[in-house]
Amino acid sequence: MTKNKIKFDIKAYAIAKSFVLRPISMRESIRLDIERIIRNALAIEKTPYGRKKNTNTVNESRRYRGYPDMSQDIQMSKTIGCCRLVYNNMKSDKDEALKKTGKLVKILPTKYKNMEEYSWLNEVDALALSNVQLRSERAYSDWLSGKSGKPCFKKKHVASDSYTTNVVGNNIKVTKDGLVLPKVPGVIKLDIHRPLPENGKIKSVTVTREPDGKWYFSLLFELPEKEETFSERIQKFIETGDMDVLNHIGLDMSLPYMYVDSNGHHPSYELKDNIIEFQKQYRGLQDQIAREQRRLSKMQKHSKNYEAQCIRIAKLHAKAKHRRNDFLHQMSSRLSKAYDVITIEDLNMAAIKQSLNLGKSVSDNGWGAFVTMLEYKCRREGKLLLRVDKWFPSSKTCSVCGHVHHDLQLGDRTYECPVCGNVMDRDEQAAINIDNEGLRILKEVFKVA
Ligand SMILES: [Zn+2]
Repeated sequence: MTKNKIKFDIKAYAIAKSFVLRPISMRESIRLDIERIIRNALAIEKTPYGRKKNTNTVNESRRYRGYPDMSQDIQMSKTIGCCRLVYNNMKSDKDEALKKTGKLVKILPTKYKNMEEYSWLNEVDALALSNVQLRSERAYSDWLSGKSGKPCFKKKHVASDSYTTNVVGNNIKVTKDGLVLPKVPGVIKLDIHRPLPENGKIKSVTVTREPDGKWYFSLLFELPEKEETFSERIQKFIETGDMDVLNHIGLDMSLPYMYVDSNGHHPSYELKDNIIEFQKQYRGLQDQIAREQRRLSKMQKHSKNYEAQCIRIAKLHAKAKHRRNDFLHQMSSRLSKAYDVITIEDLNMAAIKQSLNLGKSVSDNGWGAFVTMLEYKCRREGKLLLRVDKWFPSSKTCSVCGHVHHDLQLGDRTYECPVCGNVMDRDEQAAINIDNEGLRILKEVFKVA
């Protein structure tokens, strides 16, 4: 035991030594993180590698908000309507047959598609209609076996407005900016706030229109049963140098949303089908506080009203603080679970506040508190939080060609590369560079080519 420990410390020291020339804050935090990686890597070495390949799969669904354009909206609404019509027709036909013969009949959607008055059923996704058949059959068998009540008609807006379609060949595609569905024109814009599961094979999509008109897309993925652990992925990375085996993200502190990540997203998460955004959660209350504060200023000091108003304001402040912390906790937990390597810029908060005169926004947007949370949560999850040198020119470097654009001004929100012509949001570009720099450091640490 002791022997192992000494050996491990020496190894950690040897690797940490290559960082001696970096700024102190970074050197120390990287060293700590590296120690942990090595501990993980050593733990793997002890177990026989090359475990039996597991061919079992599990399904996992991810729900994303979508933003269809007018023509997509119309087509999907039409599909939902057609599904409802087919379902209800199947129900009345089945009920009738049951009454006459006492037997359940199997009905295919083609029965209705071939009817002249329903010929427009051919204009929507046939797989969605096939799923209606399956759903109807399940409803009847559940009813007859006593598992559930008698199937009822689906009423518009009462029953869920949704349909399900399956992957057949190449008919459904998910890319990083959208979803392609059969018979729906173009690419439906999706907000992929949570990364698509790694190694996930898409099986089906359920399209739902909520009563408020918002569209949601539930993607069902088939995944290998046992997900690889972080240690296994790191091991694979060391062996192959392939950084795609790691889930990685870079965050660039950015106002007013706290940060922009290397996928170009501001912090937000999904809770009970709502997208929670930092700005909305927090700024609304800030306005309210300002309003109550103005009201207070018009009151006579130390009057009863004045004191009641003070309490009201104090409560709002407490609520704002609570909401902010809740958001930061949610966000940091989700990131530390979803990603293996998170790279952030090592900012000197005091220096920024002074030099940019952005004091209030910088401190109350909670970046510092957020980083503290990320730190201990990454440690708890066994994940890696890397800090890159604060002098690393993250926003001046072109993420496409690597050109360093020294003339970029602080006020330039868009980066236009004079060499390769790449045009990108300044903060998103910085986040990508931070992510890349984190991976570069990892490669350096493990001497991976
Ligand atoms: Zn460039």
